[in-house]
Amino acid sequence: MKTGKKALLRSALSFVGLTTIRWWFLPSRLYCFTFHRVGDAAATDYSRNVFSCTAKRFEEHVVFLKENFDLGGLERLSRRGLTGSPGNNPPALITFDDGYIDNYLIAFPILRRHGVPAVFFIPTGFVASPRLPWWEEIPWILRQSSGTAIRLQGADEPFALEPDGGEKSIRRVMNFVKSRPAPVEEQVEEIRAACGGVRPPTDGPGERLFANWGELKEMSAAGMDIGSHTHTHRVLAQLSPTEQGNELAISKEILEAKLGLRVTSIAYPIGTRVAYTQETCSIAASLGYQWGFNFLCHANAFPIANPLDVGRFAVSENLDRRSLRSMICFPRLFA
Ligand SMILES: [Zn+2]
Repeated sequence: MKTGKKALLRSALSFVGLTTIRWWFLPSRLYCFTFHRVGDAAATDYSRNVFSCTAKRFEEHVVFLKENFDLGGLERLSRRGLTGSPGNNPPALITFDDGYIDNYLIAFPILRRHGVPAVFFIPTGFVASPRLPWWEEIPWILRQSSGTAIRLQGADEPFALEPDGGEKSIRRVMNFVKSRPAPVEEQVEEIRAACGGVRPPTDGPGERLFANWGELKEMSAAGMDIGSHTHTHRVLAQLSPTEQGNELAISKEILEAKLGLRVTSIAYPIGTRVAYTQETCSIAASLGYQWGFNFLCHANAFPIANPLDVGRFAVSENLDRRSLRSMICFPRLFA
């Protein structure tokens, strides 16, 4: 279904009250929610597109989810069982991907204030490393460019750049990057060359993107779950089984050694149907992972068919409580 048609249907369902009726009879399934960054998107020179919501909206969501679901961490979920033993509210899990600094500075204090645990999935190669992921570096480069347009290989026309590094032009370039088969590292260098060779600062004062080991340790000690998001955040389906095994094993080993805990969960990077395979889930199981999370927008029926292939609702674009409720009721209209 086209995006415009979905948006129209979403507001129609809400208007005729179908969401409310569906909400009353919400089936007892496992509901998982994914956040990335939380806070003020306009304050970063990196990607603004990875912000799920503001701090205020996040707190509203935490309160709403706590009222309506049995919000727990992985241990509670495992105890409640894969068959969904009865409880007053359906079980739910709040998760975060990528380990951004605001997860520690903004989301963690809010979660703690409300006594709600969450799972933080960490790509270990980004912790305490000057390495920047491509989806953060490209927006930064484009924002620094003083040119009015850039020409990229394979594009019919040059990409116009808004003078203030506006989001529209950045989004257009990012969509083009995702559509091209060329290795993403090469694409970063092509865009850098087209923008005058600018390089983001890799150390010293400046904006830090990711939480460090001390911060992750503090979160873990306060009852937050820490899971793997692989080591380098590569798309697992594009790797050989051995390379996939390495990504999964290295990140687990590093997290366990640095944080002194047992890592039993993983979120597959990107997490769409083409980003991981059933072989990925089997490799994860063979390495001792008990839970694996994708990025497919649906609730998980009991008994859970495969705990290494669990769907999650994506919270993005600062969606409000009403839209969150609609997404929970009619996930296909948000997929
Ligand atoms: Zn990720």
